[in-house]
Amino acid sequence: MEKQGLKVWSKEEISTLYHKPLIELIFEAAKVHRKYNDPREVQISKLLSIKTDGCPEDCGYCPQAARYHTNIEGNSLMSVDEVVKLADQAKEMGSSRVCMGAAWRNVKDDADFDQVLEMVKSVNKMDMEVCCTLGMITENQAHRLADAGLYAYNHNLDSSEEYYKEIISTRGYQDRLQTIDNARKAKLTVCSGGIIGMGESDVDRISMLHTFSIMRPHPESVPINSLVAVEGTPLEEQSPVSIWDMVRMIATTRIVLPHSSVRLSAGRTNMNDEGQALCFLAGANSIFAGDKLLTTPNPEFNGDLELFNNLGLVPMKAYKKGDKPEINDRYKEKPNTSEKIKWSRPGHKIARNEEAKQVGKEKKIEASQKACKAK
Ligand code: SF4
Repeated sequence: MEKQGLKVWSKEEISTLYHKPLIELIFEAAKVHRKYNDPREVQISKLLSIKTDGCPEDCGYCPQAARYHTNIEGNSLMSVDEVVKLADQAKEMGSSRVCMGAAWRNVKDDADFDQVLEMVKSVNKMDMEVCCTLGMITENQAHRLADAGLYAYNHNLDSSEEYYKEIISTRGYQDRLQTIDNARKAKLTVCSGGIIGMGESDVDRISMLHTFSIMRPHPESVPINSLVAVEGTPLEEQSPVSIWDMVRMIATTRIVLPHSSVRLSAGRTNMNDEGQALCFLAGANSIFAGDKLLTTPNPEFNGDLELFNNLGLVPMKAYKKGDKPEINDRYKEKPNTSEKIKWSRPGHKIARNEEAKQVGKEKKIEASQKACKAK
């Protein structure tokens, strides 16, 4: 069965695919990849953390959550000039897309948002695809971003609806879907993916892919991350995902979402070149470049260049899959105040998140006591 020209997948069908012998799954995914994409083209994207740390949310995997005690360096919102400079450097190195991330629960209609809108406009003028990941956004905010020249809005589903509650308690899955819907209403392209290796089951991975598969249109961009377990976060003790799981997830995503850019995202430092080559063969057609992915390590540029040369891959140009957005000065207009923001805050608690919060508090007290004694 098809809907809007896209196959309607049942969870059972996705499960059958996911559990195929890997060698056959890769072959099938490679065929689909060749049918809908140029298999030699891989987009290089630059992820910029424009505002790091101090986030009020409790995502169990995230070192930027204020409640956990991690050793990352925070920064307040970058200036427009800094962003332009970094985007320019990334463009020199072959990036055709810039994704700007701010550690916020949701966007507020304040001076910081005005500054982000100026960043979007400036990077758009550099002929690069601009993506933002700023937390939850209203429809009005999505329109303002679109008017400033934003190409894509990123809002990951992370996992299945069922497993989401085990990872994050400060917002619900429906809030995620609402933000994606708001981005769609503003005609932004959608970037939404997940993280594997958080303790979820295969059923959760399949369920998340099913949620993407029933969206019309499909998200244009689907990052697949493998967890980078950071000390101090509730998930610090998770074992790394095997490369076989990563290839299986990428191949299944490629078949279920044939037109989407499947992005091989966090976790590449744990993969060797051969493993990454299998991911490209199975349909991955984007990587993030630079030695950091928001706050976690990422392979160095020269290593990526060598890998591209060895495999005969070429960087994808900007706007290969969509038109460059026009800038409309409406983005400066004040927000529609009649719009009601109703983001939920579910009441449930996640024991391991609470524990990590407590340990973080104790560590902070210990550190300040030591500092006092040293004076
Ligand atoms: S993932 Fe995003 S929303 Fe969650 S704690 Fe980190 S910065 Fe905040």
